[in-house]
Amino acid sequence: MNRYLIETPHTEENCRDLVDLVNAAGYLNHFDWGCMAGVHCGWATIEAENEPQARLAVPPLVRGQALVVKIVKFTQSMLNSSHQQ
Ligand SMILES: [Zn+2]
Repeated sequence: MNRYLIETPHTEENCRDLVDLVNAAGYLNHFDWGCMAGVHCGWATIEAENEPQARLAVPPLVRGQALVVKIVKFTQSMLNSSHQQ
């Protein structure tokens, strides 16, 4: 499994619909939202096989605008090996 960061910018107008759809899809607990601070965007980190599968966590309402990025944690050994090159 790979890990993906999902960023779902949206508008104040479709905010409630989006959150309801995320809830209906079972992903409410995965997302953090900036809406209460006036930044209408949701962020989640989910596990998926690939980018298209990760994107399915985003409701079709804003799926096309979502940013889905494969993310990794750098380990100490990764840092050490890059220093040796
Ligand atoms: Zn919002």
